[in-house]
Amino acid sequence: MHDLIPFLKMYKDHWKGLFFGIFLSFLTLASAISLLTLSGWFIAASAVAGVLAISNFNFMLPAAGVRGFSIARTAGRWFERVVSHNSTFKLLADLRIFFFEKLTPLIPGKIANLRDADILNRLVADVDAMDHLYLRLISPLFVAFIGIFGISGFLYWIEPLLGLTLGAVLLFLSVGFPVLFYHLGRPHGEEITQEKTHLRITLLDWLQGQAELQIFGASGRFRAKTEEAEKKLLKAQRKMACISAFSVAMLLTLNGMTLILMLWLAADTLTQGPPNPLIALVAFATIASFELIMPISGAFQFLSQTRTSATRLNEILEAKPETAFDSKGHPGPAKGNIQIKNVRFAYPGMQKMALHDVSLSLQKGEKMALLGRTGCGKSTLLQLITRAWDPCAGSIHLDGIPLHQWRESALRQAITVVSQRVDIFNDALRNNLRLAKPTATDEELIEILEKVNLSHLLEKSGLDVWLGDAGRPLSGGERRRIGIARALLHDAPLLLLDEPTEGLDMKTEQEILALLFEHAKEKTVLFITHRLVGLNKMDRVCVMDEGEIIEQGTHETLKNAGGQYAQFFQRI
Ligand code: ATP
Ligand code: MG
Repeated sequence: MHDLIPFLKMYKDHWKGLFFGIFLSFLTLASAISLLTLSGWFIAASAVAGVLAISNFNFMLPAAGVRGFSIARTAGRWFERVVSHNSTFKLLADLRIFFFEKLTPLIPGKIANLRDADILNRLVADVDAMDHLYLRLISPLFVAFIGIFGISGFLYWIEPLLGLTLGAVLLFLSVGFPVLFYHLGRPHGEEITQEKTHLRITLLDWLQGQAELQIFGASGRFRAKTEEAEKKLLKAQRKMACISAFSVAMLLTLNGMTLILMLWLAADTLTQGPPNPLIALVAFATIASFELIMPISGAFQFLSQTRTSATRLNEILEAKPETAFDSKGHPGPAKGNIQIKNVRFAYPGMQKMALHDVSLSLQKGEKMALLGRTGCGKSTLLQLITRAWDPCAGSIHLDGIPLHQWRESALRQAITVVSQRVDIFNDALRNNLRLAKPTATDEELIEILEKVNLSHLLEKSGLDVWLGDAGRPLSGGERRRIGIARALLHDAPLLLLDEPTEGLDMKTEQEILALLFEHAKEKTVLFITHRLVGLNKMDRVCVMDEGEIIEQGTHETLKNAGGQYAQFFQRI
């Protein structure tokens, strides 16, 4: 049960609303039981009064009671729903924010092995399952135990034996049923949560990869996988539904048997003279009392589902990020000097080192190109500078201060990155650009778009044009230029460019490079490229191979040195 404790702790902030919800839920159920009990007694008592010709029978008070209880039941149900749903929605909102705050620092390291659909499932379905804890478990349990004592106490007041018997039966069932149904529901509850995730992952895979799957004629096979996952989920749900039906059937049977027992005892203890309408009261109270324990077996049957969701959430909540930032660290602003000393790095779980003993230093305003064969570790080095990861050995300093002593906000303000993969968000073009500079005006954005040759995107709806899924499709080169436009907007002293002109034609490439270097006149630049264009404008060139820096110098010296760099040029 310790899986659920972190979530129960979150209830603290909303305890007033949650307790009020339980109180209203108790009032509603008490009114429902009282209504049935009182009406049963009232009908029987009226009949007896008629038969025995009792003239002073008070019809008014019980009739008013019946009306009062029915109004209280309806109004109570409404208020209880409003209050408990209000509190649980607030609780879920807090939980989602809390989960999201824990999730973001884990990117990219700790959640690299989770699929997007899985993360989404945790954020939506697993968080939602946490309200079951209150609505299905805590609230019904509280109400049931108070209700059992209330109704048994009332019957005890009429006749001790009846009160004790009903109390014992109800208590036995409310302890025995949860144990039984928790064990019956457990394997299927876990299976339902797992299969739901599996179905979402396969379905999303199938939908997202449609274009590729159609081309390779593999759509049918992927669809079969989705259907297989759906079948498994339906099977687990069917088993769960059978257990629910079994629990209801068992409770109804036991209700009938308890009723017979209570009638038998009541007939013995309550009928010493004329027919006693209290027997009807006892009978109806027995029937109604089972309403108290109906929700409990269901709650325990689905408890394993809630627990599996809690375990999945805890995997994220308890994970330690690869890189922790110090909120009281250096606040900046940075000048843009970078020193990398003897850095070694291997991705978690990988034997092979991605970087061996890399040392580099860039002074403020210096421009350096980084070249090397694919997979030699260039992008990895950029990721270490942005602190997506920390090096296994060695150190990286920005302005003489170790990177881990910088505040996250200061580091983000100090570095602009054009990464190899530019993400386009499902949003207007304006917001896709403004994420780099929230204060940018429309005029500024239009000017930047003209500079990167993207003004044609403004043709139809201007900056409101929708990008991303179902929006205006972009070519590979256009996406890159959006990335460059963001870099131009984000005015940081250190500019890290990871193949910014890949996918652009020669002319556009030269224009974009000229633009970037004009923008970065005063800035420190680390420029990763496979294209041998514009390298003579760089202060230094660095060649990497197999995670090591093998050559370093100016364009001219390296070109004449006859090493790897010179070979790159000979190949063209
Ligand atoms: P390219 O020119 O193709 O972009 P690169 O020099 O940028 O290549 P990196 O992306 O730095 O290469 O990758 C260096 C090595 O680390 C490669 O062998 C790659 O397979 C591996 N690698 C990259 N990212 C990860 C990761 N998240 N987990 C494990 N290994 C990784
Ligand atoms: Mg790369």
